[in-house]
Amino acid sequence: MALIAILPGDGIGPEVTAEAVRVLDALSLDLTFEEALVGGAAYHATGHPLPAETLDLAKRADAILFGAVGDPSCDALERSLRPEQAILGLRKELALFANLRPAKLFPGLEDASALKPEVAAAIDMVIVRELNGDVYFGEKGFRTNAAGNREGYDVMSYDEAEVLRIAHVGFRTAQKRGGKLCSVDKANVLETSQLWRDVVIEVSALYPDVALTHMYVDNAAMQLVRNPGQFDVIVTGNLFGDILSDQASMCAGSIGMLPSASLDANGKGLYEPIHGSAPDIAGQGKANPCATILSAAMLLRHSLGLDAAADRIEAAVGKALTDGARTADLGGSLSTRAMGDAVLAALEGLK
Ligand code: ATP
Ligand code: MG
Repeated sequence: MALIAILPGDGIGPEVTAEAVRVLDALSLDLTFEEALVGGAAYHATGHPLPAETLDLAKRADAILFGAVGDPSCDALERSLRPEQAILGLRKELALFANLRPAKLFPGLEDASALKPEVAAAIDMVIVRELNGDVYFGEKGFRTNAAGNREGYDVMSYDEAEVLRIAHVGFRTAQKRGGKLCSVDKANVLETSQLWRDVVIEVSALYPDVALTHMYVDNAAMQLVRNPGQFDVIVTGNLFGDILSDQASMCAGSIGMLPSASLDANGKGLYEPIHGSAPDIAGQGKANPCATILSAAMLLRHSLGLDAAADRIEAAVGKALTDGARTADLGGSLSTRAMGDAVLAALEGLK
């Protein structure tokens, strides 16, 4: 019996998470669900965005399904009490260092992409982004420099062990897919990137079945738009991955379609849609639940080893879309619940 922590959070988080839980329930797997408050919802109830009991549940659980955090009514709070601190705290406390963001265009959604339909149709990749290091976690601050000007600084650094462990995730991900890994860096300019490239090349000796290439990040940004079909798996650092994965998501259609996994060294993971709490449409039943439903599929695959059940969820989402089910972000008029119903009906039809 696997324990799944359900952390719905704020805004549309509870609406989309509810549909993902319905889909998981329909599979009749040996799962138990335990729910806890997180983000603004937790702050309003307890005074803290990541209460001790929520963190405890996250640690006890075999996997975490996370909705979204972000609540405009908390904007004036000091930084440590803001809803967004909850997700940063979970990533840090649980050592979730590997962020997997698959970007794939479902058939029929070509028109939703920012790219030409025939270019968009070829998108089927996973971006493996390092999540615990890089410039986000180096020394940072403000100072007055020798010229008497204000200066802000953020130190970019990577420990070779950090690069090593994410490189392994990149190679293993490529092994399970098309066998192609593109490591993205800026090794012509940055020492961190030179170390990154050296370590990735060292690790590649252990994966002779994976074809490794290297690309500078500026070129990668251009290639993602020009010819995204060339990519199978991209492995990159925290900053470059942050930017490239948002770019890739827009190429693959709606923000409401893309799931993600954030994993630790043992396969424990937190699964969430790439979108936020969308306060502008919260409570209106308009949100597309597919990104969260697909995140639940990733949970089954990566944390529980239930690949067949994950495949079934993904096939059901594909079938619902092919049958014409569309929420507003995809140009349709279905409610969040009705989209969930369409996926459930497709799941039933696939049995
Ligand atoms: P965060 O900082 O938490 O990532 P954000 O500022 O990037 O949040 P989102 O909450 O992701 O913003 O919303 C961006 C836009 O996308 C909004 O207009 C929102 O309504 C829309 N959006 C986000 N998620 C969905 C969804 N599941 N279905 C439909 N529209 C969505
Ligand atoms: Mg965002």
